[in-house]
Amino acid sequence: MTLEEINYQIYDCKKCRLWQNAKHGVPGEGPLNAKVMLVGQNPGADEDELGRPFVGRAGKFLTKTLAEFGIRREDLFITNIVKHVSPENRKPFADEVTACLPYLVTQISIIKPEIIVLLGASAKETPRVEGIEYITVIHPSAAMRFTNMREKFRQQIAILAKRLRKN
Ligand code: SF4
Repeated sequence: MTLEEINYQIYDCKKCRLWQNAKHGVPGEGPLNAKVMLVGQNPGADEDELGRPFVGRAGKFLTKTLAEFGIRREDLFITNIVKHVSPENRKPFADEVTACLPYLVTQISIIKPEIIVLLGASAKETPRVEGIEYITVIHPSAAMRFTNMREKFRQQIAILAKRLRKN
């Protein structure tokens, strides 16, 4: 199985109800040899429009903050637990997460990242794989809105950058 094959499976997927409201599946993007994988919860409206992860305001904020600490977005693999937008951007239901999770599991097994960065609520649903380091950070949309969370988020990204410099 290749990343491209997974992408096509996601574009055609009807395993849960979410495809019905979506314009595009959003499999994720990034290099095959990414050392770091970022996992969010689900694509939003901007991501649905473009078929790409974290391209809206929160995504731009995330990219900018990563860059401030010397981390290039294009070096990371960025994806979500659920690959289609949900109505009114509601939290995905448990059965939707269950249906979609095998795509993430396969992406992890192909990319074999050293570190998985869990963005906010994605933390508890992302499967744990032995040998991978997991780092949980505040979701960029919350960090963008609330000053106290923004500072904490910046500290968390600084720790990630320091960890990457050790490699
Ligand atoms: S959200 Fe996941 S399981 Fe549901 S239709 Fe989309 S790709 Fe399939």
